[in-house]
Amino acid sequence: MIHKALGYWIHEAGPQPGFPGLQGDQDFDVIVVGGGFTGLWSAFHLKTAVPELKVGLLESHRIGHGPSGRNGGFVDAMWVSFASLVKRYSSEPALRLARASEQSVRQVGQFCEEHEVDAWYRLSGYLNVSTAPAQDGTWAGNLKAMREAGIIDGPHELTAARVQEICASPAFRGGVHYGVAATVQPARLAFGIRDACAALGVELFENSPAIRIEDGPGGVLVETPGGRVRAQKLILSNGPALAGRGSPLSGAVTLASSHMVITEPVPEVIEELGWTGGEAISDCRALLTYFRTTPDGRIAFGWGGGRIAAGGRRFGRAELDAEVIEGVITGLKRYFPMLADRQLEYAWGGPIDASPTHLPHVVALPSGRAFAAFGYTGNGVGPSQMVGRTLASLVLERDDEYSSLPFIEPASALTRVPPEPFRWVGGAMIREAIGRKEEAEWAGGRPDPISSAIARIPELIGFHIGR
Ligand SMILES: Cc1cc2nc3c(=O)[nH]c(=O)nc-3n(C[C@H](O)[C@H](O)[C@H](O)COP(=O)(O)OP(=O)(O)OC[C@H]3O[C@@H](n4cnc5c(N)ncnc54)[C@H](O)[C@@H]3O)c2cc1C
Repeated sequence: MIHKALGYWIHEAGPQPGFPGLQGDQDFDVIVVGGGFTGLWSAFHLKTAVPELKVGLLESHRIGHGPSGRNGGFVDAMWVSFASLVKRYSSEPALRLARASEQSVRQVGQFCEEHEVDAWYRLSGYLNVSTAPAQDGTWAGNLKAMREAGIIDGPHELTAARVQEICASPAFRGGVHYGVAATVQPARLAFGIRDACAALGVELFENSPAIRIEDGPGGVLVETPGGRVRAQKLILSNGPALAGRGSPLSGAVTLASSHMVITEPVPEVIEELGWTGGEAISDCRALLTYFRTTPDGRIAFGWGGGRIAAGGRRFGRAELDAEVIEGVITGLKRYFPMLADRQLEYAWGGPIDASPTHLPHVVALPSGRAFAAFGYTGNGVGPSQMVGRTLASLVLERDDEYSSLPFIEPASALTRVPPEPFRWVGGAMIREAIGRKEEAEWAGGRPDPISSAIARIPELIGFHIGR
């Protein structure tokens, strides 16, 4: 098994063209910092809306090589988090946001079609399954919130027998099915948006980290090791880096990580499981396990149980963690014991920008010239397209459905996380306790009372863990 930070999808997408680093002084109307889905979609929608706008994008490494090119490829709408949306924003704004996110799932597919991007987009639905008695019915609150908001044709509950028809894992119990959800090959998608941006005239710079940002009265100044950019507007789309030291939003993000493996082609196993519909599936744990198939018959399997990173450090164990990969493999074999002797070809991981609400937020910084989006908490692939539209609308000062979505909040309204070192120490302790509790539940036993009590701390202080 090859265990590298960049993982399988970037390898599968093949060699990519390089883009120059920023050199000297340059002026732009809008400068985007970060070349993942959020930054790429923002630049794409800005340039599509106003072709004469001068838009530049700075990426510290290679475009699409961060979490955007390494994730599970689940393109989900935010219905999965509907109860949390209602709790934070109330029913009508929550409905607008969930509907926009559903549209976003479809718009990703439309983009692929219109721009002939072969990102393996497949609108095949998402299944959230219980794999232990403690997980049974954990979706009930979410479905109730939807019914109360008048949604009658939304996701529906599935019996254990129906779940078995979709995917006959011996570990699966009942579940719930969300119809508007897709899977993609995420690196192919990221590179496709990059190419569409380049074709529209967005100036792309790689190996150009923003090392100093000044948001002053006359505009924005961004410095990289090779040059400086002056711009009227700034989009901060550097995701997990916003949890790090010096970020204006570090008090609102914790850095966790997620890790994955992918099997050799096992089409006969997928056939035997009856899992031929391409559904994306996850369990209902707080430290979520997620899995999907690929067109060439592989199973990609991930676990959001990576460590909390001290000080928001994005590299090291946030990307490469052999112990966590062992945990991923244990999960894979539990859910799919028939894969015990099959080869795992790649393992990888990446940082996760976790917000205390588990929801993404779009923030206007005090000058009114700079905007940031972050906090997807492992669920950014579908929503980032809608977030890109939102950031474009805010930059263009447009009054439209995107610039009025409720997740646009002043920085002062964000739920704060404790400062370091309490964030790291507390986060690690809670993660360990949730892990022990979920392990005991999986084994059919009762979790020890101390782990259960610690696992409840986030809920008691108003933080949401899990989907
Ligand atoms: C293993 C794994 C599995 C996941 N699975 C899923 C999934 O199945 N579905 C889902 O919805 N989400 C999933 N996620 C989360 C998803 O990948 C993210 O929510 C999404 O990619 C966020 O996109 P982004 O553009 O905001 O951030 P990123 O992809 O992190 O992009 C930010 C970019 O900014 C760059 N950058 C950082 N600092 C600077 C700087 N100073 N200057 C310039 N550039 C900078 C980084 O190099 C990076 O390329 C997963 C994540 C991981 C790690």
